[in-house]
Amino acid sequence: MDALMRAMVLEHPGQGLRLVPCPVPRPGPEQILIAVEACGVCRTDFHLVDGELPDMVLPMTPGHEIVGRVAAIGAAVDRWTIGQRVGVPWLGWTCGACRYCRAGQENLCTQARFTGYQIPGGFAQYTLADQRYCFALPEGPAAEELAPLLCAGLIGYRAARLAGSAQRLGVYGFGAAGHLVTQLARRWGCEVYALTRPGDESTQAFARSLGAVWAGGADEAPPSLLDAALIFAPDGSLVPTALRHIRPGGCVVCAGIHMSDIPSFPYALLWGERVLRSVANLTRRDGEEFFALVAQAPLKAQVHVFALEDANQALDRLRRGDIQGAAVLSMRSGAQ
Ligand SMILES: [Zn+2]
Ligand SMILES: [Zn+2]
Repeated sequence: MDALMRAMVLEHPGQGLRLVPCPVPRPGPEQILIAVEACGVCRTDFHLVDGELPDMVLPMTPGHEIVGRVAAIGAAVDRWTIGQRVGVPWLGWTCGACRYCRAGQENLCTQARFTGYQIPGGFAQYTLADQRYCFALPEGPAAEELAPLLCAGLIGYRAARLAGSAQRLGVYGFGAAGHLVTQLARRWGCEVYALTRPGDESTQAFARSLGAVWAGGADEAPPSLLDAALIFAPDGSLVPTALRHIRPGGCVVCAGIHMSDIPSFPYALLWGERVLRSVANLTRRDGEEFFALVAQAPLKAQVHVFALEDANQALDRLRRGDIQGAAVLSMRSGAQ
C-alpha cells in the first residue's frame, strides 16, 4: 500500500481548502518527488481558491512557491540527486513547440501548465515536479525564507526588468512582491517610492525600513515624477493613478494575474509615449538569472509562518491585507 501524506485540497472554489490524506505520489520518468519543507502563499492562491481564475483542474492542491528536498527521482532524471535542495515555481510545464516557446517566451506558451493550478502544488507534505522546471536553491537560508522568492521574488524581478531602466521606481501594493523588489531595486541603485493602501502607516513604515525614499498612500502623489511604476495590488483603479505619476516615456507594469476592471481615463495620461503593460508568469531563464542574483546577496523575506493545516487562515489574512511581507506554510511539525 502507498504511504499517505497530508495535503490541503481545493474541491469546490469558494469553499476553502480541506485537509485530505492522499497517497504520496510516484515520480514519472522526468519527475522528481519532493519532500516539501515550506510553501509560500501567494495572492494568486486566493484568487484561484475563490474561483476567480479559469481552467482550474479540480480537485487541486494549490501552492507554487515550493522549497523542499529531492526524495525520489524518475528514471530519466539527470539534473537532480536525492537530498538536493530544490525550488518549484509557478511555471510547471511548457510545450516547447509553439511560437512563444520557440521565441524564448515560454511564459506565454499556449499549452503551459502551472503549479498548484493545473499541476498539484506544494500545500502538501510531498509533491511532484518536472525536473526541467525546478531551480537549485542556496543551502544557507531557512526554507520558510526562501519560499516567497519562488513567485513574489521572481515576478517582482521580471516586472522590474520589464519596466526598463528606472531611477525613480514606484511600487503600488507593498506586500510579498513589493518588499522583495524594493531590496533588489535598491541594489540596482533605484529610489523606491512605496504606495500602500491609504492610511496604512505600518506598511509605509515597513517600506521605509527597507530603504524606500518615500512611502505614502496610493491616493497621494509621490513627491517627484516616477520613471516607472509596478502595480502588485489587484486594483484596476491604480492604473490611471500610476500613469498620472510617471514621466513621458515611462512605463507602468501590472504584475498580478488578476485585476479588477480598469476605469476609463483620458488619453493625455498615456500620451507622451508612456507605456502600459502586464507581466505574465515567468520563464526558466528569469529564474536562473534571479537565483544567481540571490546567491550573490540574499534577499530578506519577512515571513509569517503557518502550519499546513492553517492554510485557510493564511489565505484569509492575506485577503484582508493583514500580513506584512509574505505568508508561508511550513511542513515542519510544530510550526505555528
Ligand atoms: Zn504567485
Ligand atoms: Zn509552448
